[in-house]
Amino acid sequence: MILSTGTPTPSHATQKFLDQEHRLLIDGHWVAPATGKSFEIKNPSDNSTIAHVAEGGQEDINRAVSAARRAFESGPWHTMTASERGKLIWKLADLMEQHIEEFAEIEALDNGKPKAVAQAADVPLAIDLFRYMAGWATKIEGTTIPVSVPYLPGAEFHSYTLREPVGVVGQIIPWNFPLLMAAWKLGPALATGCTIVLKVAEETPLSALRLGQLIQEAGFPPGVVNIVTGFGETAGAALSAHPDVDKIAFTGSTEVGKLIVKAAGETNLKKVTLELGGKSPNVILPDADIPSAIAGAANAIFFNHGQCCTAGSRLFVHRSQFDQVVEGVAEEAKKIKLGPGMHPDTGMGPLVSQIQQDRVCGYLDAGFNEGAQAVVGGKRGDSEGFFVEPTVLVDTHPNMKVIREEIFGPVVAAVPFDDIEEVVQTANNTIYGLAAAVWSKDISHAHRVARRLKAGTVWVNCYNVFDASLPFGGYKQSGWGREMGHEAINLYTQTKAVTVQLS
Ligand code: NAD
Repeated sequence: MILSTGTPTPSHATQKFLDQEHRLLIDGHWVAPATGKSFEIKNPSDNSTIAHVAEGGQEDINRAVSAARRAFESGPWHTMTASERGKLIWKLADLMEQHIEEFAEIEALDNGKPKAVAQAADVPLAIDLFRYMAGWATKIEGTTIPVSVPYLPGAEFHSYTLREPVGVVGQIIPWNFPLLMAAWKLGPALATGCTIVLKVAEETPLSALRLGQLIQEAGFPPGVVNIVTGFGETAGAALSAHPDVDKIAFTGSTEVGKLIVKAAGETNLKKVTLELGGKSPNVILPDADIPSAIAGAANAIFFNHGQCCTAGSRLFVHRSQFDQVVEGVAEEAKKIKLGPGMHPDTGMGPLVSQIQQDRVCGYLDAGFNEGAQAVVGGKRGDSEGFFVEPTVLVDTHPNMKVIREEIFGPVVAAVPFDDIEEVVQTANNTIYGLAAAVWSKDISHAHRVARRLKAGTVWVNCYNVFDASLPFGGYKQSGWGREMGHEAINLYTQTKAVTVQLS
């Protein structure tokens, strides 16, 4: 049954924001799109329209990139000290903190995730990211390097490096964590002194637009952050092909990641970082603490309705505990209440859109046609909203689509294994390499498996633990580069070597 009665209405502040005219943020002003068009934003829990948003296109991207270029090359941002930059970012975090509930409601209405989850995770993580990156602003340093040039004997030099901002950055983000993805992108770009054109996902543009208002209130100079709402094939493609953009940072599907690399290659060879899909293995060794591993496996796949690039969608369990773990995860699934993001009892909201619901159900059908069985779930919800039941599949084989491809929904395939060598091979048998987890009470055992898993993040006896200080990104086709941590700072700067002849 899907919860509906007793769903609270949004607060006055949230409703006031939703009812506004939502324009594009370009050069410090909220402007109408050159297309003259807008599009509807739906609440995925009942398919109702909650807002209308400007549809930015090529011309709007051009205007935004010009504004970002001007702000980068001249004006207050260009001359601002690192300390002043850090203070502005910190101020933005303070302003966000005054609006946590409003942001959580916007995410619940726009994306469908439970308000309580957004309030406890998405919004505080976004605030924390800005504060972490504010601290980096004053710590971006080069090094001095002793040189001895063989063909200039006796000559003395003083050589050092400068780390300089990459320049104008295009950022394209997805709909699964709308505010948090905006923070992951904006934080390091601002800390390093870049300027930005942010293209938010067409499904979930609202929290970034609210953030844009706070960016204005904090006092960032015009053109430093430009926000364009619009579609991927138009606004997103125009941004990734723009010859005056120095870097594109993208999070989304591997398919679109490849298009972005192609566009960069065909224009100005702009730098590209990519955070793409995953098919993450979650490995429960025979000596694991089974109750924690069961709770962890359920969280790994059902958190954010499985719409996580790190979703633990392949669950490998030693044959001796397979039945117990499958039953345990199925019990956890049965306890999850489906409902609107705004309902206080909702454990899992709808998927973000009908397209996403159809995509996930298409994978379920493919799995059933190929012989997989659902221990629990396996169907779409009986409602106007885009719900899919939390699902545990068994009886899969390695060539099935549900094992090979990213489903991006609340669907886990449980697979038994007999020995560690076998499970390491199978876990690594994927085009992806974003995240993985291993559960074991034998810590050296767990470390050994962690080393052998080919993934950018490995969790031991936990899952979905994120922190602003930890580099995050993928091996193989899960991406290029890292977000968060020191590594993100490196990827928004470039190194200049300066050599002075002393004698
Ligand atoms: P997508 O990759 O199409 O969209 C992500 C972002 O890219 C959006 O802002 C979109 O407007 C933009 N975009 C789309 N086409 C573009 C283009 N040609 N040029 C430039 N930008 C473009 O993702 P989706 O269609 O929303 O979801 C499809 C699948 O992608 C999902 O089922 C899931 O498997 C995966 N996905 C992964 C993540 C992640 O965090 N890694 C997030 C969302 C979706």
